[in-house]
Amino acid sequence: MPSLAPSTSPTLNSRPPSRGLHHALAEFRAEHGFGRAIAAPQLGIGLRLVAMNLGDGPRTLVDPEIVWHSDETFTLWDDCMCFPELLVRVRRWTSISVRHRDEHGRLHLRERLPAAESELLQHELDHLDGVLAVDRAEGPGAIVKRDDHDREQLAAMIDRREDQ
Ligand SMILES: [Zn+2]
Repeated sequence: MPSLAPSTSPTLNSRPPSRGLHHALAEFRAEHGFGRAIAAPQLGIGLRLVAMNLGDGPRTLVDPEIVWHSDETFTLWDDCMCFPELLVRVRRWTSISVRHRDEHGRLHLRERLPAAESELLQHELDHLDGVLAVDRAEGPGAIVKRDDHDREQLAAMIDRREDQ
């Protein structure tokens, strides 16, 4: 069950349960055919911890923080392991920079990420604050059942907008 409570930082002495997260991510992906990342609160773990795998191996983000974002935003049809049967139209920043630690406590700065990774991390960081994609549904008809829509068609509906 997803937790709606904001999560706390893992303390330096407690080893983050990242292995369990990566295992859950791999299992979900095998069953549902999607899933690039999972946040600890999705497994009922109240820690600021995200496990992701973009096809280049598992990566663990401890205490991730958005330290910069583009003015430009775009909308996309988002999905979530919390409601695998739904797609939700949300607006995200086109690019962000994220600072985080890894499971060994090393600091990483991932700067000006491409849109796909940017929107993914905004989704996962929302989980850490108890915010779900459905909370950010934008516009009428922004929540649809996955079965009724072809993901490829929806992807073509992504639009961009210059803010300010
Ligand atoms: Zn999610």
